[in-house]
Amino acid sequence: MEQLVESEPSAGTVVDALVGGNCSYCEDGTLVRDSYKGNAAAVCDCCETPAVQVWDDDRA
Ligand SMILES: [Zn+2]
Repeated sequence: MEQLVESEPSAGTVVDALVGGNCSYCEDGTLVRDSYKGNAAAVCDCCETPAVQVWDDDRA
């Protein structure tokens, strides 16, 4: 049996889920991994609108 490990979704996981998807704000954009104001983010490569950004609350 595989053991499922529950864990908090990391910033990378949330961003990766959107990377490669279509931009919601323009027709031709594709979301790419980038940073926005120092946070991990998925940003449109066309209009540069961040679809999601993740604040790194775990950083001590
Ligand atoms: Zn776009």
